[in-house]
Amino acid sequence: MIREIAEKYNVILNEVELGDKFCDANGEESYINSSYSAGSIRTTCDAEIWLGIYENEELKLISFFHEMGHMLIDMGYDNDLKVYDYEKDAWEKGYKLAGECGVKFSRKAKRWAKKQLNSYKNYEEREYTSFETTII
Ligand SMILES: [Zn+2]
Repeated sequence: MIREIAEKYNVILNEVELGDKFCDANGEESYINSSYSAGSIRTTCDAEIWLGIYENEELKLISFFHEMGHMLIDMGYDNDLKVYDYEKDAWEKGYKLAGECGVKFSRKAKRWAKKQLNSYKNYEEREYTSFETTII
């Protein structure tokens, strides 16, 4: 099903597998429970998704729709927008697309997704704060 959805939007879908060329190039650990995308269907560059390796099929599916959400984002890069805002937008667009495709996710999968999103909170500030010493 995901292949048909990607095709419909002219998105190149790579399903990464253990030991394939992507793992050889970037290390398989970078694809465990992680997916990537480049471009968007609103831009002239190729829209492409690298769907990672997931033990849980539902997390793979929810990640696919998230990456599709990135493909559907039509805002240009704006310096005032934080990474978190882009990620949030991609999750919202992904859920909308999943809904249109009749796909529903469990609470557990959505909780996992929320955790992924929250990891981008204060993304920009993190590199500075990580040098601070916290005294409790
Ligand atoms: Zn994302």
